[in-house]
Amino acid sequence: MQRDKSQIGLAARMATLHESPTMAMNRHAKQLAAEGKTIYNLTAGELASDTPLYIQKAVAEKLHMNKYTPAAGLPELRQQIADSSRKFYGLNWIQPANVVVTASTKPAMYASLFALVNPGDEVIVPIPAWRSHTQLIELVGGVAVEVPMTDDFDLDVKAITARINARTKAIILNSPHNPTGTVFSKSSLLELAAALKDSVITVISDDIYVKLVYDKAFTLPPTCGFERLIIINGFSKSQALTGWRIGYLIADEEVAKAATGLLSHVTGNAPMPSQQAALAALSRGDRPPAETLEMLKHQRELVDNTLKKIPNLKYHLPGGAFYFFIDLRGITKSSAGWCEQLLNETGVALVPGEAFSAPGFARLSFVTDEAVLTKALEQIKQFVARSVK
Ligand code: GLU
Repeated sequence: MQRDKSQIGLAARMATLHESPTMAMNRHAKQLAAEGKTIYNLTAGELASDTPLYIQKAVAEKLHMNKYTPAAGLPELRQQIADSSRKFYGLNWIQPANVVVTASTKPAMYASLFALVNPGDEVIVPIPAWRSHTQLIELVGGVAVEVPMTDDFDLDVKAITARINARTKAIILNSPHNPTGTVFSKSSLLELAAALKDSVITVISDDIYVKLVYDKAFTLPPTCGFERLIIINGFSKSQALTGWRIGYLIADEEVAKAATGLLSHVTGNAPMPSQQAALAALSRGDRPPAETLEMLKHQRELVDNTLKKIPNLKYHLPGGAFYFFIDLRGITKSSAGWCEQLLNETGVALVPGEAFSAPGFARLSFVTDEAVLTKALEQIKQFVARSVK
């Protein structure tokens, strides 16, 4: 029987689902480059270098391994993640049973929210925010409650606590922070932990940038005494393994088991070669190579030295991660329009603040090749000079 095409509709939930804007911008920039245009792609949140050679070698030796692993990951990998995280955070409760290995941090966040959030439950997200955080909350039927950060992009604990109510289930933290690159102050984190004391609210700490820090004064959010805590992390950003899709969550056993149950249906285990890559990274302490940090510091300085000479642009020097979040409100009313024009006229691709619930801003990722970055900065400088005339 012929089906009436008008009835083959998408599920209602798809109406609010949009492609990750950061990935979409990156795709668009790459497409323009493939068409032969000169593009300076400062959209992507990923290191420009290849997979480290020692990881390539270690994985190559394990390529015969083709079988399923437990959905929560290889036992030795869970053990090593538990051991290194226990030491890194100084949290003695972290054992292998608390660790679930996932095919990147996105399923880790999805499974955590899926395990905790009932339809209609609220999850607080400080904004600006990475879009996948709010989108994943909505995908599990929750309500993303966006709470603006302070003007210098720290947690606004008073604003957060003002939005807490009986439906509040969780708060997502991300420090160093995407898209602003700021690190949350110790005082704001401790104030939040005190405000959440004895509550049923879980803090989900997206720690993907914690190993890319430039400020000595960095405080790891999980060390601030949150009673209900899920840590999400992975190997993408610090080990140049974005395309390998390998991450993990650390939670109390009940949540870890629930998340594993979900993932056993959705992804099964994270790919074996990626788990092997993670084991290799851990064998060297899961630290970014010193050269990577040096390169990032140098490129951060390069951007800082250029941007500070451009009148009417404002920004905060990032304390971690690899983003500058530029305040364009002194020069334009529409950051999306401004970014589009910048791309069309100069080939420089940034991510407009609209992608992070922060119109008026643009995110510049400084992890590209230095020559490309230098040329892109020059283009931005000239574009601003032309547009403010
Ligand atoms: N987190 C990265 C970024 O913000 C990856 C892009 C994405 O997954 O949306 O650029």
